[in-house]
Formats: sequence, C-alpha cells, structure tokens
Amino acid sequence: METGELSTSMVVAIDGPSGSGKSSVSRGVARALGLAYLDTGAMYRAATWWCLHRGVPLTDVAAVAEQVRGLPLEMGVDPERPTVHVDGVDIGDAIRETAISAAVSAVATNLEVRAELGRLQRAAIEGSREPGSFSGGRGIVAEGRDITTVVAPDADVRVLLTASEDARLARRALDVHGSDDAAAVEATRDQVLRRDADDSTVVQFHVAADGVATVDSSHLDLDQTVQAVLDVVAQVTGSRA
Ligand code: C5P
Repeated sequence: METGELSTSMVVAIDGPSGSGKSSVSRGVARALGLAYLDTGAMYRAATWWCLHRGVPLTDVAAVAEQVRGLPLEMGVDPERPTVHVDGVDIGDAIRETAISAAVSAVATNLEVRAELGRLQRAAIEGSREPGSFSGGRGIVAEGRDITTVVAPDADVRVLLTASEDARLARRALDVHGSDDAAAVEATRDQVLRRDADDSTVVQFHVAADGVATVDSSHLDLDQTVQAVLDVVAQVTGSRA
C-alpha cells in the first residue's frame, strides 16, 4: 500500500444455520463489493466426499483426520461461479447430494478435521489480501458456522444471518425438493434441524457473539437480505473511518 492510499482490503465473515440463506447472500455481498467468496461448508462437504470415496468409515476419527490432512482440495472463489475440486475432480454437484448432507456432521464434529480445515480457511482469507489473488487483494466474504467466532474473529465485518425455523425449512425444501408443501418440508427436517443440532455440539451459530451484527432474513427476500448485510458493512466501515 502506498503512503496516503486507503487500504481497500476487507474480510467479511458471515455465519448462520442451515436455510438461513448464507450462501446466496454471501455471494451477493461478494459480487456487490468485488470480493472473493469462500464457502467453508463446501470444504466440510468435500472432506466428507473424499473420505467416503476412499472408503474410510466416518466413525474412525483418526483415519478421517489423516485423510483430511492429505485432502487435495482446490476451492474456486469467484462468487459468480464458485467451484470445488478434489484431486482434480469437479465435485461441485456431488457434494450437494443428500448422502453428503446426511453424513457431513460426522466429519465436521471431528476436532482434528476442524483444526485442519480452519487452517486452510485462514490461509485462504489471508491470501485474499494479496495483490495477485482473485479479488486483486481487495479481500473476501467467508461464510460458515464458526467464521465470526473461531476462524476469523478479527474480520472487519462480522454478521450472523438468522431466520425462523419455518422460513429455514421452507427455503431448504424449495432448494432440495422444488416445493415447500408439507411433505417437502417434512422430508427436509433431517437436513436442517438434525444437522444443526449435531453441528451445535462443536460450534455455536444461533446467537451472535460479542461484536457480531445479527441480520434476520425471515421476512426478507434475497436482494433485501444482501442489502441488509451491505448496510452493516457500510455502518461498520463508516464508523471505523
Ligand atoms: O453450509 P453447509 O450446509 O454447506 O455446511 C455443511 C456442513 O459443514 C454443516 O452442516 C456443518 O456440519 C459444516 N460446517 C462447519 N463449519 C463451518 C461450515 C460448515 O462445521 N464453518
């Protein structure tokens, strides 16, 4: 940075439960601000896919941790087209399948896995400040469950995105089953409520930590929620200036 030039590098951390709209909102915020986008949930999903692909039982904590330490993962951080490759294979669609959603918490509650993926996430966040990075050094929006608290507690802007249980179930049912009627919502319960309950045993993402702004998206559409987060960014960076 040259003398007198303002630093434009910014890290925005966004956490929230399943169905809160984190991914779409984070991508929208990244696009609006010209930042990179890191989906840390996709990293846990990729680790799960890799262990299953290698035939490692997810209950074998040590074997899973060893596989994840050797995970040949490449995350594409363009918010227009985020990608996930493992060992050169594009697994962007495979990691969204129900089998992975149902199994991912077993990997995400492995503390050695969390340490390793947390290390990769911090490296990606730091890398986004480099001039040669995707965002040209402007920074990143990183989203997940523990970004505001554990991975990047010193992020410039920290947001907890919440939504009522009904809103989260209906959104996920629409995503996965193309409908939010009663049967689709019932079929989505495991993916939303059971998964969040399991994940909550190792990370806290239902209540905002100190200094983290809460945005409730229950009654907002996507554009309104992106705007609400951009308002928080403006408030925080404005008050800092
Ligand atoms: O956000 P998404 O539903 O893709 O996350 C998949 C899973 O990854 C979560 O259910 C959780 O088990 C795990 N996860 C996590 N910590 C993060 C992000 C995701 O444990 N920061």
